[in-house]
Amino acid sequence: MHQIQLACLVRHLDPHRRDEILSGIARDQPLIASSTTEGSTGGDMSRSECAILAHGDMFHLTKASSVMSYGAEADMILATARRSPDAPTTDQVLAILPRECVSLTRRGDWRSLGMRGTRSGSFDLLAEAPLSGVLQQPYRDIHAATMEPVAHLLWGAVWCGIASEALETARRFLRRAAVRGGGSSPPGLDLFAEALGDHISARSLLESAAAAFDAGADLSSHRAMVGAGAASANLKVQISEGMLSVVLRSLKICGLAGYRTDGDHSVERQLRDICSAPIMINNFRLRESIGKLGLVQEVRSWGK
Ligand SMILES: Cc1cc2nc3c(=O)[nH]c(=O)nc-3n(C[C@H](O)[C@H](O)[C@H](O)COP(=O)(O)OP(=O)(O)OC[C@H]3O[C@@H](n4cnc5c(N)ncnc54)[C@H](O)[C@@H]3O)c2cc1C
Repeated sequence: MHQIQLACLVRHLDPHRRDEILSGIARDQPLIASSTTEGSTGGDMSRSECAILAHGDMFHLTKASSVMSYGAEADMILATARRSPDAPTTDQVLAILPRECVSLTRRGDWRSLGMRGTRSGSFDLLAEAPLSGVLQQPYRDIHAATMEPVAHLLWGAVWCGIASEALETARRFLRRAAVRGGGSSPPGLDLFAEALGDHISARSLLESAAAAFDAGADLSSHRAMVGAGAASANLKVQISEGMLSVVLRSLKICGLAGYRTDGDHSVERQLRDICSAPIMINNFRLRESIGKLGLVQEVRSWGK
């Protein structure tokens, strides 16, 4: 989350405040958390219920921040909110909340299947912060240009890493079985080849998406934005489901040794963690948006 929020600041801070804020971050090295998920709107990042309530140079914000990784430890929070109390839920801004301007009341612990180290608890957030910390650019544009593509690239790389650990465990298991079997092909080799193929494909997909992002996505026209949005959503869906499947196949290859929570061939940790991938912004939501975006322009063939 920290890297994603930092990317948003680097690319979207208002020019007159950019140097001051970034040099402060470079000097103080704050840990930056993200508060997009909200009680009533859940994982729908395109809508906010909470709103910026401006008064003088300051603003007030109350948000049911239902999932916030390392929220209690963060030095700064970037939160999405409606631009004002009378703005529609889709008219969102991104606001910088320095920790000293925030009061957090914990509403729930993070007792999850996996990803426990993220400490993504539930909080009632109350902020009284300088209005100059509200980014001028609409959140919709920040989301399309940076928040979503960077999140999907970074998460995808993490999920690929989790899957590679499980697959490496399966490889060691198979090598041991091959040695014990006098060099004959061990059972599970086909499954390993399939999983390895999916892992190689996921890495290629990530590498080409990262190169495209570095080259600068063309968001100049509606058509280009639609294409970039669908590609970014598709990256997340493909990698999250593909890597879950790789870990599950690694479990099958290792059998009981993989299912156990101890021993050299356990894939317990990887399985618990990778289960978060398809629901971390639910793939149902992303598929729906890929489908809607796909309807507005013709399907392209290779090279077009
Ligand atoms: C490890 C981890 C760390 C996280 N850290 C943060 C963080 O730091 N900050 C933050 O703001 N959030 C964070 N989140 C939350 C995340 O960004 C999503 O908001 C969250 O995963 C969505 O949870 P949800 O399934 O309850 O919500 P929703 O996406 O609202 O889904 C709720 C239910 O509705 C269904 N549903 C939703 N949309 C549709 C649809 N269009 N069609 C059909 N069914 C639908 C889903 O299947 C689901 O069952 C984190 C999540 C995880 C797993």
